[in-house]
Amino acid sequence: MVKGTTSMGKRSKGKTHIRCPRCGRHAYNVRKKYCAACGWGRSSKIRRYSWQNKKVNRVRVR
Ligand SMILES: [Zn+2]
Repeated sequence: MVKGTTSMGKRSKGKTHIRCPRCGRHAYNVRKKYCAACGWGRSSKIRRYSWQNKKVNRVRVR
């Protein structure tokens, strides 16, 4: 198994994440159908944690 230059050519098979309609980040998982960054498709609330300083669309969410 190689993980260097020779294997970089196989990196284009399908895409896991596309651009999220809510937060605009490239974090919407196509197969799971939710956004890894903001939780769009999973919950109506924005995915965030108390230890997290999150910005959605460049605006800080508290
Ligand atoms: Zn999102």
